[in-house]
Amino acid sequence: MIKVTLKDGSVKQVESGKTVFEVAKEISEGLARMATCASVDGKTVDLRYVLDKDCSLEIHTFESSLEGKKAYWHTTSHIMAQAIKRINPKAKLAIGPAIDEGFYYDFDVEKNFTDEDKEKIEAEMKKIIKEDLPIEKFTLPRDEAIKFMKEKDEPYKVELIEDLPEGEEISFYKQGEFTDLCAGPHLMSTGKVKAVKILSSSGAYWRGDEKNKMLQRIYAISFPKASQVEEHLAKLEEARERDHRKIGKDLELFMTHKLVGSGLPMYLPNGATVRRLLERYIQDKEIELGYSHVYTPSLANSELYKVSRTLGSLQRRYVPCNANG
Ligand SMILES: [Zn+2]
Repeated sequence: MIKVTLKDGSVKQVESGKTVFEVAKEISEGLARMATCASVDGKTVDLRYVLDKDCSLEIHTFESSLEGKKAYWHTTSHIMAQAIKRINPKAKLAIGPAIDEGFYYDFDVEKNFTDEDKEKIEAEMKKIIKEDLPIEKFTLPRDEAIKFMKEKDEPYKVELIEDLPEGEEISFYKQGEFTDLCAGPHLMSTGKVKAVKILSSSGAYWRGDEKNKMLQRIYAISFPKASQVEEHLAKLEEARERDHRKIGKDLELFMTHKLVGSGLPMYLPNGATVRRLLERYIQDKEIELGYSHVYTPSLANSELYKVSRTLGSLQRRYVPCNANG
C-alpha cells in the first residue's frame, strides 16, 4: 500500500500500481467521470499515470483548474486533427496545443480553409465524439518514433522528434485510426468531449518563422455543456465590440498610418479631447495630493526597463509623497 495525500490534506491508502483514474473512481464515480488529468507531486500527469509510491495527488476537472481545461481542449485538438485527416488524408500535421482559451492546430494543406470546410470539419469532429473512441498512450524509442512518423508521411512530426534528445522515449496517443505524437495528458476517450466550436482560421508560419512555410491554423474551443459554447461566443462578440481598434475607428479617436509606423496612434480631435481631459484631471489631482511634476522621455535606453533600482532612487528623489515626505 502507498499513501496518497489528497488536495484537502486527507491521506488515502491505495494499492500500489493503480492508475490515477482508478483512484479517482475509488474516491467517487462522479469525480472519475469529470476527471480530465491530475497533478502528482505538482507535476501534470495523465489519468493513466500509475501511482507506485507515496505522493500528493490533485485530480483536475474541466471546472476545477486551467490544467483541467487544457487536457480537455488538447484532446479536442486531436479530435480536430483526426477529422481533418479523414476529410483530407493528404493534410500534414504540425502542432496542436491547448491555449488559455481553447486550442489550435496547424496544418499543411494546399489551400486555406473556407467556412464550408470548417462546417465539414466540425461535423466530422462531432462524429468522432459520438464514436467514443478509447484514447491509448504508447511510447517508442526515438529512432522507431522517427520511422513511424516517416511511414505516416508526417514530415513536421519527424522534425519535432529529431529535435528531441537522443535516447528519449517518445510518447504517442492513439484513438481509432488516428495517432499523434504527444506528451499528453489526454482524456480517456473521445466521447468525454461534449460541445465543440470552430472559431476562426488564419495563416501561421511553421515554428513562427517567416522563412518557413505558411501553414493553416484553426482555432476552436470545447466545453462540457452546449450552453457554455453560446456563453463563450457571446463573450467573444462583446470583446469584439469593445476592441480599441473598433472603438477608435467608430468614435474617430485615433488613426494609424504606415508612414508613421504600425501600432503608433495619432490622436484625432475627439481622441485628443479625451486625452487632454484625462491629463488635466490627473495633473490637478497629483498637485492637490502634494506630488511634484517631472517629465521623463517617452523613449528611454532599454537598460532602464531591466533595472528597478535606478527607477526607485529616481522616484525617491523627485516624486516625494505627500503624507510622510
Ligand atoms: Zn497532442
